[in-house]
Amino acid sequence: MTDFNIHFIDEHDILHKRVLLRVDFNVSLHDNLTIADDARIQQGLPTIKYLLEKGNKLILVSHLDRPEKRDPKLSLKPVVARLQEYLDGFTVKLVDDFLIEPKETFSAQKENEILVLENIRFYAEEKKNDPEFAKKLAELADVYVNDAFGVCHRTDTSVVGVAALIPSYGGLLLKKEIEMISSVIAKPQKPLVAIIGGAKISGKIKFIGRLLELADYLLVGGGLANNFIAAQGFEIGKSLVEYEEIENARRILYMAAQKNTAVVLPSDVVIGEPDNSKEGGEIKKVDEVPQDGYILDIGPETQARFGAIIAKAKTIIWNGPVGLFENPAFGRGTDFIYYAITQNKDAVSVIGGGETLAAVSKKEYLEKITHISTGGGAMLEFIEQGTLPGFEALNNG
Ligand code: ADP
Ligand code: MG
Repeated sequence: MTDFNIHFIDEHDILHKRVLLRVDFNVSLHDNLTIADDARIQQGLPTIKYLLEKGNKLILVSHLDRPEKRDPKLSLKPVVARLQEYLDGFTVKLVDDFLIEPKETFSAQKENEILVLENIRFYAEEKKNDPEFAKKLAELADVYVNDAFGVCHRTDTSVVGVAALIPSYGGLLLKKEIEMISSVIAKPQKPLVAIIGGAKISGKIKFIGRLLELADYLLVGGGLANNFIAAQGFEIGKSLVEYEEIENARRILYMAAQKNTAVVLPSDVVIGEPDNSKEGGEIKKVDEVPQDGYILDIGPETQARFGAIIAKAKTIIWNGPVGLFENPAFGRGTDFIYYAITQNKDAVSVIGGGETLAAVSKKEYLEKITHISTGGGAMLEFIEQGTLPGFEALNNG
């Protein structure tokens, strides 16, 4: 049970039903052809297997990327092929267009057959929470299961609309995400240390505001730290910054003082050329950045200061790389944060974010992180608001 009034599939007998299962198989593709990373498919397997073991017939719904209309490059074909590899003894079939598909495909579905609807964002109605479209989806099944945590912050038809029309449940991944993230926001062990990075501050202002209430320490790195550095009156040269947000950064520093949250900003940085993949950077104190300097990572002194705080944490929340990690010359700060978290054996740690996961997904010690969220935006909005539209839609008394 969670605080939300959601019925999860392992708390109910869902047997021999036709199940419309919303998953998030929005995998990253190489050249639109092969799957670069299928973590999202793997994370969805427990729910799929659980429902299959109970003799249910599954109809899967997922989006891939952000097409606004039918686009062969964003077909779920590669996803279906990969899913097939994981499901011995079952046949996984792509349904090209469920709206015109002969009825028999669904009425004659066998128990060892899994149907996957083509990329749901090929239908413009998906993004509009369209009641007619919701009805057409709901008609395919007896029950609806949402296991797509990564889209629960959206009010899309396949996330919100369908859930109201047929009995609806939460899947196992959804349950894990809710339990783990709730555990760091509801009654966290203190001190709670939040680390925030990434490129832009504009999309994360509200999230940072919420962290100020939750956290004892807020460590700031990445491009968004530049707004705070500029707010303190330091030169940031040509570094990434959103000038219209500097006032917000100032406001955050003021709020932090009132809430007794220690906002810890970089005291040294690495400057360099963002496009130059070969040459490393140069370390500068934060008040020594030249007019043509470009801040691309936190410096070693900042690492040490952040590291000492992370080592004492009992709860850790991390979102956002603290440097331009795609270039290894500017990935040291992000690596350091990651290893510092894995070294703290006493803390509950939750990390999330698209690029954050890309930065750590191939590293050792991943098992030392308590929870790696599959949702970037969804995790941030859940922490910020305490609930999400996708959870509320499942709230069926
Ligand atoms: P996430 O997806 O984990 O929430 P964001 O999307 O907010 O993270 O930001 C990630 C991006 O921020 C990365 O591509 C990284 O290169 C960039 N970034 C981090 N620090 C800097 C910096 N100092 N200058 C420019 N870009 C940066
Ligand atoms: Mg991102």
